[in-house]
Amino acid sequence: MRVLVTGGAGFVGSHLCDALLAENHQVVCVDNLLTGSLRNIAHLKNEPRFEFVQQDVNQPYDVGPVDYVFHFASPASPVDYMEHGIETLKVGSLGSFHSLDLAKKYGAKYMLASTSECYGDPLEHPQKETYWGNVNTIGPRSVYDESKRFAEAATMAYRRYHKVDTRILRIFNTYGPRLQLNDGRVISNFMKQALRGEPLTVYGDGKQTRSFCYVSDEVEGILRLSRSDIHDPVNIGNPVEFTILECAHLVLKVTASRSPITYEPLPQDDPKQRRPDISKARELLGWEPKINLETGLKLSMEYFQQAIEIQDAAKAGRQQTVAV
Ligand code: NAD
Ligand code: UDP
Repeated sequence: MRVLVTGGAGFVGSHLCDALLAENHQVVCVDNLLTGSLRNIAHLKNEPRFEFVQQDVNQPYDVGPVDYVFHFASPASPVDYMEHGIETLKVGSLGSFHSLDLAKKYGAKYMLASTSECYGDPLEHPQKETYWGNVNTIGPRSVYDESKRFAEAATMAYRRYHKVDTRILRIFNTYGPRLQLNDGRVISNFMKQALRGEPLTVYGDGKQTRSFCYVSDEVEGILRLSRSDIHDPVNIGNPVEFTILECAHLVLKVTASRSPITYEPLPQDDPKQRRPDISKARELLGWEPKINLETGLKLSMEYFQQAIEIQDAAKAGRQQTVAV
């Protein structure tokens, strides 16, 4: 197949490109590098089945005939989507329309990368796909939550009105190599802080919960859903729940760091708890995650160490330039 991945230079998107290439597909990666990086796809530079197109998907574009469209472009970390609020609203709306139009034009199958944020600060726990969510439509996170909820509505509308063969994936917190060092997400912050010997910043009292899925598990779930005929949303995430304070202690253990823990204010509308009910993925896709958080953090450590070295070298270079 010739496959389009929007957001393919991002964290999850680049791993998806790798997995699709490993299955012998041709991959066209379209990304404007807003939050992604060419470093994530540098290893594919000489791969003849891989094509990178630097393009804002909020503008009309056409990459020619494709058999599958994976719409993964969107800022994804709270820090990123709050900085790029309008772009985030546009990529869920205009960006979704443009990618759906390509799927319609070429008769391609379609997958939307949606999110657990559709459930907002959930009143149902764990979250099943049938839960409609508890989202503050005007709060600071709404640029992301409502953008994704709109994208889900657009996806279902193209299915109903234009018969596009669609799938909706609800990703829960995913981590691993290529997670941006500076995107403010909890795993990147804690790993960076622990490896640098700086204090780990726990927001609020650290009793809020998340569950963390290692990226290879997530990608396996994505591939299985992409091959299925399930058209309603499917949660793909790890159902083992941790408080953020437990997560901080695990990072300290894995990195053998002696960093202290400090407490900072909880951001507005920060969900108090989050854990996917993955019964649907288990039953219909035969999928469940295999890598627990401690193992996943160990597998990610080398990447974070290297990313810190690259960042420090870049900083030192800048300082030298200023001194000269
Ligand atoms: P990321 O920021 O690493 O990747 C997103 C990519 O989209 C980046 O490469 C960025 O440059 C690109 N992009 C953004 N706007 C664009 C535009 N207008 N045109 C072209 N490219 C654009 O984030 P990620 O964690 O890899 O997330 C990928 C997808 O998965 C997103 O849709 C996100 O909402 C979803 N998701 C991720 C998680 C997670 O825990 N990582 C959780 C839920 C949902
Ligand atoms: N968090 C934290 N310290 C940090 C970064 C995040 O305590 O340095 C908390 C954040 O308040 C939230 C959880 O960790 O409760 C997960 O945050 P993240 O930004 O990774 O993603 P979210 O699940 O909120 O989208």
